[in-house]
Amino acid sequence: MYPKSFDNLITLFEKLPGVGNKTAQRYAFSLLDKSQDDINELVTNILSIKNIKRCKICGFLSDEDECLICKDKTRDASTIMVVAYPQDVVAVEKTQSYKGSYHVLNGLISSTKGIYPEDIDIDKLINRINQNTKEVIIATSPTLDGEMTALYLDKVLKDKGVLVTRLAHGLPMGSSLDYADDLTLIKALDNRRKIDENH
Ligand code: ZN
Repeated sequence: MYPKSFDNLITLFEKLPGVGNKTAQRYAFSLLDKSQDDINELVTNILSIKNIKRCKICGFLSDEDECLICKDKTRDASTIMVVAYPQDVVAVEKTQSYKGSYHVLNGLISSTKGIYPEDIDIDKLINRINQNTKEVIIATSPTLDGEMTALYLDKVLKDKGVLVTRLAHGLPMGSSLDYADDLTLIKALDNRRKIDENH
């Protein structure tokens, strides 16, 4: 019914996660009302998404080899917070209560999904650990996969003689880190503990 290009746009929106046909149509209609400048800006940003890469140190998103966090010399590189996804870095940064560095695994170990330690960026993390590393804070979500990944990391990092801590369970079980509110995250960070203390 719609003109072909409008229909195509709806089909493309429908390919985005969580977008059904109704929402896709709403997006297409909302673009129809935008100014030419707004459309140009949107198109430019979509085109440049392929220039975004992973930071070669921590795995966070960056448009250069090193991300803004790794380049920031005021941050404490001796503390590394390990998270599953780039969104988790943003969630912790929002709290403004952490000044160390990060390591993004880009996934979690999962027996149900068949994801093994070698499938995520654990090797890169181990290679980063050196005599200057004081603490590794494991901040994977309190889900089954998050816990399994935390236990695995604790085991391999202990051999490196580094202090390994885990975010406290102020976080609701089964929840994802980037859905936690700031206060809950700050508390979980303050009350982090060694993994062994719970076993
Ligand atoms: Zn980085």
